[in-house]
Amino acid sequence: MGTRPGDSGIALLPGWVGRILRFDPIPGLAMHEASIAVELLALVEEQARRHALGRVTGLHLRIGAMRAVVPELLQAAFEVVAKGSLAEGAGMRIDSVPLLARCSGCGRQVAVEEFVFLCPGCGAVLDEILSGKELDLLELTGEEGGTP
Ligand SMILES: [Zn+2]
Repeated sequence: MGTRPGDSGIALLPGWVGRILRFDPIPGLAMHEASIAVELLALVEEQARRHALGRVTGLHLRIGAMRAVVPELLQAAFEVVAKGSLAEGAGMRIDSVPLLARCSGCGRQVAVEEFVFLCPGCGAVLDEILSGKELDLLELTGEEGGTP
């Protein structure tokens, strides 16, 4: 059973609205990515229910550099936590957003590397983050619920 355009197949979400769940450590996986994966699965399950998806086949995420997420680790963690859920085996696409800041001293726009928040122009502390804080689920792809 496929999806109908404009119907339940794709959910566009304005931002990260996941609930905080208790985190059970998963051996061998990075704590950070694993806890995000747990939250992500909760959000995916909630959205799947809301949009009557019986199965989730794909996720599209946007993650800013400031979140310090390693895409491969997040994918591996999600694979583990999603086992047995309706999102088992779902593909994941991650768009990385660079960390950009603006210097309030000289107005210069700076691509921040290695989390050094200093303006290379005037030496001021970069306090205005333009991008890089994102942790968004942009899109879910799935199939409508089948007959039980
Ligand atoms: Zn500056």
